[in-house]
Amino acid sequence: MEDVQHPSHAPPDTTPSLAPDSHPSTTTLKRPPSPSFEGVDDKITRKRFREDSSEDMAQAQIASTSKYEALVEDLAQELQCGCCAGLVYRPVVVSPCQHFFCGSCCVLWIKNGGANCPACRGVSNFVTPSRPLQKIVDVLLRAEPSRTRTERERMQADEIYKAGSSMRIPTPREASPEPNLNQNSDYARPCPHCGPDNPYGWRCPQPIVDFSVDPEQAWHLDDGAPPGHAYCGNCEMLLALGAPVTTKCDFCQVSFCGINVQGRCTASALASQHPHNMNDVSDLIQSSEVYECFENNHVEVEIMLDYLSTRQITPRQIYRDIVQYLQSQPNGFRPLIESDLFVDMHSVAAGIDDNPNAPRSRVCRHCATEVTLWGLREWWIRERQKGHLDAAITNRPDCEQGTLCSQQKDPGTSCPV
Ligand SMILES: [Zn+2]
Ligand SMILES: [Zn+2]
Ligand SMILES: [Zn+2]
Ligand SMILES: [Zn+2]
Ligand SMILES: [Zn+2]
Ligand SMILES: [Zn+2]
Repeated sequence: MEDVQHPSHAPPDTTPSLAPDSHPSTTTLKRPPSPSFEGVDDKITRKRFREDSSEDMAQAQIASTSKYEALVEDLAQELQCGCCAGLVYRPVVVSPCQHFFCGSCCVLWIKNGGANCPACRGVSNFVTPSRPLQKIVDVLLRAEPSRTRTERERMQADEIYKAGSSMRIPTPREASPEPNLNQNSDYARPCPHCGPDNPYGWRCPQPIVDFSVDPEQAWHLDDGAPPGHAYCGNCEMLLALGAPVTTKCDFCQVSFCGINVQGRCTASALASQHPHNMNDVSDLIQSSEVYECFENNHVEVEIMLDYLSTRQITPRQIYRDIVQYLQSQPNGFRPLIESDLFVDMHSVAAGIDDNPNAPRSRVCRHCATEVTLWGLREWWIRERQKGHLDAAITNRPDCEQGTLCSQQKDPGTSCPV
């Protein structure tokens, strides 16, 4: 494979970065409830109806309009999330009390140690997505699209809560519905596996002692993670290293709880992982990192993106091709690991990678993205050689700079001039 270095012919791309950042600020979702446009609408409708020939009809219409507005306002009030006070987004219902919240608000609340329902303070065990509520929200938004959350808000929320996933609420330190005044946030709280009667059929050999039970034996957070425990690379909750549901990414060496957020709190087998932030070709179009893989050779990136769309090749297929290719190479993943590609991927402490020859069988979503970006350009050069491209592209004339143009030297790239 050629080792090619191309000066950029095009200005650097300024599209938003694909930086692996799964830890959005917890404050960004808080927002005031949508402003009401009642007054404005009212004025417009009155004006419109004054021009109408029939005065009676106008009166009737005004009455029905204000009835409609009252209904919408009532509905919006009822569908308000108790956490962020906005119209509920991807609603989830807390069991057994049946209070509902935005999925993302609920994840953040659990992440911040919430074990009781934020609305009624009742003991809660499970959070499940609510399809009926979602349907009502959809109906409301069809009638009043202005109440839709901004794209940015939705993206942030979707990053925190994966639509449709259920969550288990970590066991409270005590089975008491009373708010626990004896807590101390400087000390570690038991992990989901620490309790003797936890629902997972496996118990921590060294359970974390809760501060409210025995302050002497409690584990101070300044001392790092308690023995046998680590923090999940996705939800950042304490997990048990030995638990059957815990998985470790063999690239970044971070563990995942396998409990809180389905499909995200996990390091999967290489071939079954989904690279983070790369769901379809449009995610690649948005990614400045993809352009960087091609030294900002926009023309070549666009040819590739067209090719991917036409042949319906997904980023995940590319990721899997790259994994297969690297596995077939004598050095395997070593070049990637030795270039520190997977260092500091998550904001939680990682384990130590002491054997560069260790087998790599599990990967987290963020490391899967790193692997994809690492191998994307060479993947494309291999793909071009399959001969599926139009002759018009493969036979493009030389750049007017001729051999002075370094991009023309590489059969895998084109020159935008
Ligand atoms: Zn909310
Ligand atoms: Zn409740
Ligand atoms: Zn534990
Ligand atoms: Zn987790
Ligand atoms: Zn990883
Ligand atoms: Zn050129």
